[in-house]
Amino acid sequence: MPIFYECQRCTACCRWPGQVRLTNEEITRLAAFKGLSEADFIQQFTRLRWDRGGLALLEKPDGGCIFLEGDDCSVQAVKPQQCRDFPNLWNFPGFQQTCQAFPREVSEAEYARRIALIKSTGSHQ
Ligand code: SF4
Ligand code: SF4
Repeated sequence: MPIFYECQRCTACCRWPGQVRLTNEEITRLAAFKGLSEADFIQQFTRLRWDRGGLALLEKPDGGCIFLEGDDCSVQAVKPQQCRDFPNLWNFPGFQQTCQAFPREVSEAEYARRIALIKSTGSHQ
């Protein structure tokens, strides 16, 4: 039976070093959610990726994501796919040492349903 990791919203992944990559579609959604033009959103909330291959979310001075407010994601409804996909669709060796997602054994059908939910934009995973 497959294992699905249930996020416990500990926000560790919103605080560790790295970058949240943004697609053009995500910039459009995030800008609309913030009530900003795309140009203003890009100016206020993004930076160039380290490889200069596109844009990423800005970090706060403490390294946390610009959209982390206390223990909540302030753009949860439209958060980038990279955030939605972790840790079930991408992760790294030893991620369980920091990420508190609960490993739950589920049926193949339930696993497929949950993965489809993660992939569907508009759901609040
Ligand atoms: S956008 Fe939200 S979920 Fe993604 S890193 Fe920032 S605070 Fe965390
Ligand atoms: S994915 Fe893991 S690290 Fe990120 S908020 Fe959920 S439990 Fe925490």
